Amino acid sequence: MINKFKKELLKLSLINKPIFDKIEHEKYITDWRGQYHGETLGVLKPCNSIEVSNILKFANKFNLAVVPQGGNTGLCGGATPIKGQNAIILSTEKLNKIRTIDKNSKSITVEAGVILSDIHNYVEKFDLFFPLNLGAKGSCMIGGNLSTNAGGINVLKYGTTRELCTGLEVVLPDGQILNLLSNLKKDNTGYDLKNLFIGAEGTLGIITAASLKLFPIPKIKLTAFAEAKSITNAIELLHIFQNEVPFGIEAFELMPKTFWEVASNNIENITIPFESIPQMGVLMEISSTSEEDAKINSNGSTNLYDKLENLLAYSFDKKIITNAIICKNTSESHQLWDIRERAAESEKKELKKRGAIKCLKHDISLPLHNIEKFHNEAQDMLLREVPSSRTIYFGHLGDGNLHYNVFGDGILPDGFNNRSSEITEKIYEIVIKNNGSFSAEHGIGQLRKKSLKLHKNSVAYNLMKNIKKQLDPNNIMNPGKILN
Ligand SMILES: Cc1cc2nc3c(=O)[nH]c(=O)nc-3n(C[C@H](O)[C@H](O)[C@H](O)COP(=O)(O)OP(=O)(O)OC[C@H]3O[C@@H](n4cnc5c(N)ncnc54)[C@H](O)[C@@H]3O)c2cc1C
Repeated sequence: MINKFKKELLKLSLINKPIFDKIEHEKYITDWRGQYHGETLGVLKPCNSIEVSNILKFANKFNLAVVPQGGNTGLCGGATPIKGQNAIILSTEKLNKIRTIDKNSKSITVEAGVILSDIHNYVEKFDLFFPLNLGAKGSCMIGGNLSTNAGGINVLKYGTTRELCTGLEVVLPDGQILNLLSNLKKDNTGYDLKNLFIGAEGTLGIITAASLKLFPIPKIKLTAFAEAKSITNAIELLHIFQNEVPFGIEAFELMPKTFWEVASNNIENITIPFESIPQMGVLMEISSTSEEDAKINSNGSTNLYDKLENLLAYSFDKKIITNAIICKNTSESHQLWDIRERAAESEKKELKKRGAIKCLKHDISLPLHNIEKFHNEAQDMLLREVPSSRTIYFGHLGDGNLHYNVFGDGILPDGFNNRSSEITEKIYEIVIKNNGSFSAEHGIGQLRKKSLKLHKNSVAYNLMKNIKKQLDPNNIMNPGKILN
């Protein structure tokens, strides 16, 4: 049977031959966290949208599952094929051309397989800046970013990937090429179809290219690290900055004590900014595109630096923070951002050290005023249910987004007395009670599809299923992801 598919796949006219070698498959069938392991008939690497279209027509004809894959850095198992599905992996690695850049309208059109940091480097040559920024930037691809509607550290100022995209080219499950590429800011011509494919995790078609918004490079960027006593204090600090530099906050990240403990256990030669591990660390970046803010003033400083220093001093006087530093140069700033960006990596290392003990990953968002309340309620619940568990949380505080991860130290086999899913559901109930979302930026994939069915508004859930059925009647596109 498998040989029959191989023969047929070889007949497809593709520049790159399909990969059938099982050893070569390994990196495509295992997810970044190593939690999902699937199987595939073959990995296909189309070079253009016509090749993608031919592959999807072929998959419909032979009823094969198609799993789109970009950088394979997703954290919910969305890009890993499920065993027993007769799946082909459609890797976008070779869809990697930058098609056009328009300096005047500050826009770029790129193919889906362009690596995020390659976009950053390319646009910099034109004095422009693409603000999507996350720890996986050196390997994730823009098609994957769009398909997960990735967030990252700059959402506070620039929005999620959805807000950075003005147009898409998508190959629909039946092979039709839908061209919605555009760099227009205004276009009210009926339904906004592009938004259907953003965040769809490859269940509705293959994104092959995208038009993206670019921004002027800030003239000055400053990084500061402050220590607060509580989440509420950290949020007060955010409000002070939002009032005083409303368009200047690029990022505002929470790095509490347990985050630093894991980071210092797992990152070699780590520099902790203060003498001891901070209680509730806040890493922030502020910027300005104004020459006035960037030029050296009569104090031998810059206006933006003075403003930052004054706001931190004010927050210290008001007892909102207990300590703060401003990075003197880009090297100091990179050191701190590197620690933050390596959060997922250091947790992965920590988990490895603990053998069979699981870490329950929760990517949640909450209204800012409910974050501390959520945290207290969740800790009470965990103390009752899994007394020796340890919560490592951190995240994009400015967006109300926490990565709230719980290491089980309790009873084997999983550290949670086999109650991992139950504990996760208890956390989600507290999130929902506090008007939050159980999936902020990483998506649903395989990991959260049961929770989606349970918690999503049932009318919305059925509408999603109907849309999927309409566009993909044979259910070839990434089956078993998002929806059951
Ligand atoms: C160290 C690290 C840090 C991270 N930090 C963040 C963060 O701060 N914020 C955040 O949001 N995420 C973060 N992530 C998660 C991840 O990087 C993002 O979800 C990223 O957007 C995935 O891109 P990718 O190219 O790797 O996609 P993949 O993992 O390959 O795929 C993700 C999903 O999109 C689908 N897909 C991929 N390409 C296409 C396409 N062209 N058309 C249709 N469907 C497609 C796949 O089938 C899958 O369902 C992090 C991950 C790591 C490892």
